[in-house]
Amino acid sequence: MRLVVANWKANKNRSQVNQWWETFSQHQFDASDIQVIICPAFVHLNLLSELIDKTKLSFPVTVGVQDLSPFPGGAYTGEVTGMMLAGMVTHAIVGHSERRQWFGETPQRVAMKVREALENNIIPIVSVDKDNYRQQLTQFDDQSLAKIVVMYEPPEAISQPTGPIGRGKAAEISDVEGMVKKIQQIFPEQSIVYGGSVKGDNAANFFSISEACGVVVGSASLNANEFIRIIEQA
Ligand code: PGA
Repeated sequence: MRLVVANWKANKNRSQVNQWWETFSQHQFDASDIQVIICPAFVHLNLLSELIDKTKLSFPVTVGVQDLSPFPGGAYTGEVTGMMLAGMVTHAIVGHSERRQWFGETPQRVAMKVREALENNIIPIVSVDKDNYRQQLTQFDDQSLAKIVVMYEPPEAISQPTGPIGRGKAAEISDVEGMVKKIQQIFPEQSIVYGGSVKGDNAANFFSISEACGVVVGSASLNANEFIRIIEQA
């Protein structure tokens, strides 16, 4: 099963979500071995779920989130918990490098979020890089690791032309292959996806890595036609 994850980050208002869906849902292809997961901002979860429910698609599309609370619920102003999301979303991106950088997330905090996701039957997509993957993944036991998708995303590969982190140049295939091998040496059979400047014209390279199981797409997923081009290559 190939995963194609759209991480919309802090983009799109309601009418832009509707427009995106109108374009996206016109495409049909034979894609029995693909799961598409769209992760909008929390405020669009309902809208996107409704759009998915009322459209007949030829491939599975589910909704995910870009984050969730490390706490089970209660007096935590502003938080969205796993319990609230249970049954609404299939996946949760956790520990994205942007959250580590701008919101001070530590491996311990990320581990709490992973626990909350798993307890609510949400599959965590745990984002790691070369420097933190060991420290992050050793927080989990084998049982949890079996349920987690690891996302290898070098922060410098993120396409964010106006921001300070990314350079917008995808990692070399050899680098991704090397990291996938390294991770799987310590955590054999770990599901791993790659993220960082995946576009229509380079996605095929990442899908060709046999040990990896998919991609996470940021900027290029904001354009429905470009995102379709990526799915077509999965
Ligand atoms: P990008 O973002 O595709 O815009 O590089 C990927 C991500 O950060 O998830």
